[in-house]
Amino acid sequence: MKKITIMTLIFVLTLSMFALPAGAVGNGPNYNGNETIKGERLTSNEDLLADVQRAAERSDNIEVEIIGQSVKGRDIPLVKFGNNPDNPTILFLTQQHGNEVMITEGALNVIKGLSNNNKHNRELAEAVNVFFVPRLNPDGAVGDVNFDLSDHVAGGIATRTNANNVDLNRDHNTLAEPETYALHHNVLRAYDIDYLVDFHHQGARSGIDGKLVSGSILYPTNEGVDPEVVEMSKQLGSVMYDAVEKRGFGLLGKYNGGSANTIARNGLAYEYDIATLLFEMRGMIDHSNPNQVLGQKSNGYLIQQAVISMEAAINAIADASINEADITFWDELEVQRFMGEEETE
Ligand SMILES: [Zn+2]
Repeated sequence: MKKITIMTLIFVLTLSMFALPAGAVGNGPNYNGNETIKGERLTSNEDLLADVQRAAERSDNIEVEIIGQSVKGRDIPLVKFGNNPDNPTILFLTQQHGNEVMITEGALNVIKGLSNNNKHNRELAEAVNVFFVPRLNPDGAVGDVNFDLSDHVAGGIATRTNANNVDLNRDHNTLAEPETYALHHNVLRAYDIDYLVDFHHQGARSGIDGKLVSGSILYPTNEGVDPEVVEMSKQLGSVMYDAVEKRGFGLLGKYNGGSANTIARNGLAYEYDIATLLFEMRGMIDHSNPNQVLGQKSNGYLIQQAVISMEAAINAIADASINEADITFWDELEVQRFMGEEETE
């Protein structure tokens, strides 16, 4: 009798794990070892450079600058839409971790949209500078690294660290790697950046309220960061959170992050007084741990989540409505919990 009760309980628990509402990307299809993961539909390094150059040729307001090279000698571009020092500047940083790819696809979509010389974009360029570093880690993005990736579930098509196996998002104090050196010397110290979103992808098994999330966000939490910078960071988060929530398909939790200044969220806010937001999207393309990996079926939603949230930030900075954003939601935002392995920004 006792055995049956336990079996029934396990059965009910198992059912409840899968009885998640359909339609939300946070609850969308997961990688369960039976979904093929492919990298060839994603933008290659060569195509990424060609795409941003094309955007610069098309647009009166876009310029591309090569800020440096990766360990393996790949060019790292900075895309600048608008470049008026009197206007506020936001920087979208993507793919410090090479296996976190959908956010870069989202950034390329936004760049393409901004390359249209329409009225909205002409007005935007008068009010805001929008910068992108749309793939800081091009070597990790294609798995061209100096170490073995044979333990990765998708065969090593991409990996987190750079070619030297260094986590770039732990290198913001030392700047020992060419990628972080280029970002700091040729972007963060070369321009007056007001806002920065550090985009990542987290594991596929984080949730709030019993549901898997489509992403998570967090402001700088190092106690040395200027309180005014923290408030601006919370406003940036508010604008992006609202944009995703309004569309109905996203579910965002609060990221449970540390206070170390070696990571961009804290380090850049501390060192440069930049309002920073960590924005994690759900699931990665490849990893040695299957819990981190998400199959292709959610890609479209994740790209949309990226596009919607970036555009909301751009518009709110351009019309200054970001300064009135309600930051009290942060007090209620539930901290996500790990329904799988731990993950780090
Ligand atoms: Zn990451």
